[in-house]
Amino acid sequence: MFTEDKTEYFDEEDELLKKVKKMAKMIRKAKKIVVYTGAGISTSAGIPDYRGPNGVWTCRNEGRKAPRVKKAWNLLEPTFAHMSIATLIERGIVKHLVSQNVDGLHVHSGVPLGKISELHGNTNKEYCQDCKKEYFRPFCVAESSTMNHLTGRICDECGGSLMDSIINFGEILNPEIISRALNEAQNSDLSLIFGTSLRVAPANKLPTIPVENGNGKMAICNLQKTPLDSYSKLLVRGKTDKVFKLLMKELQIPVLSFKETLELRAKERKVKKLNNKNENENENKKENEKEKVKKTKKVKKKLIKKKIPKNQTLNIYGNNKLEKPKKVKSKQKPIKISFYDRVFGQNVDDDDSD
Ligand SMILES: [Zn+2]
Repeated sequence: MFTEDKTEYFDEEDELLKKVKKMAKMIRKAKKIVVYTGAGISTSAGIPDYRGPNGVWTCRNEGRKAPRVKKAWNLLEPTFAHMSIATLIERGIVKHLVSQNVDGLHVHSGVPLGKISELHGNTNKEYCQDCKKEYFRPFCVAESSTMNHLTGRICDECGGSLMDSIINFGEILNPEIISRALNEAQNSDLSLIFGTSLRVAPANKLPTIPVENGNGKMAICNLQKTPLDSYSKLLVRGKTDKVFKLLMKELQIPVLSFKETLELRAKERKVKKLNNKNENENENKKENEKEKVKKTKKVKKKLIKKKIPKNQTLNIYGNNKLEKPKKVKSKQKPIKISFYDRVFGQNVDDDDSD
């Protein structure tokens, strides 16, 4: 039985580096890695966790004032840990990401939607009740939500009501997202867990799958003890940003900051826009050329017309009608030579016989 311990543990520098090196080795050896994240990865972004010494629930349970998010939702930025995970996914080293966080920072950091299962939803995502079309907003869609998740906006596609994607406590998780995460977990051989105390099902059931299947391993990076520590080959006690800084250095993979990524995205958009503009210009050029050729032909035709005597017109066939000259049938009967005459060079014969 796991007894909750709110203490946060920190590895000594040497110990931490040794563990990170071991984690890098596990990453290099693995064929399919799934990363699992929780609130601990977003605390340095200004979002309080739940079970930490100053977490929302810890404070509430102790009768203290619960901490709030330090910035407006739309001003929150992905941390170094978020950017590192996005880089590992971009490089194909990490195959999938399962997150319990709803802050949307993983998607913000550049993780493609097909590579992430957000078990509890995303504050930036709303979807149509009827046609299920998804919308990603630059603001927290749940701020305007009612208890039944309606955000008050409507679908561009079908006019249906839009709903936020947040799963509140006691609500059923999205079965599609769960089954995708389960499928990824079953096919993985390394579970890397960052910043979660693994107390909420089913998020805490997935990472153990490769271990239980006997073909994989698990590594946990969390400040507090978790009920799955005994499954884990490696327990790293350090803050996620610090651990990722050491890990990415060990893996020799550079990580762009969020600001740099934004600048790069802006540049890419600019280049794309310029390419589109050039393409359009080229299309226009082609059209203009066609038009020019057409006009030249018209002018040429007019000029030719002027040069022809008034009672005569000319066309490409040299006659006065725009049609192919007819073959003139000779009034004389064609001369046919018999096979016999062709062989022996004798008489010219009218007969068709050989
Ligand atoms: Zn719709």
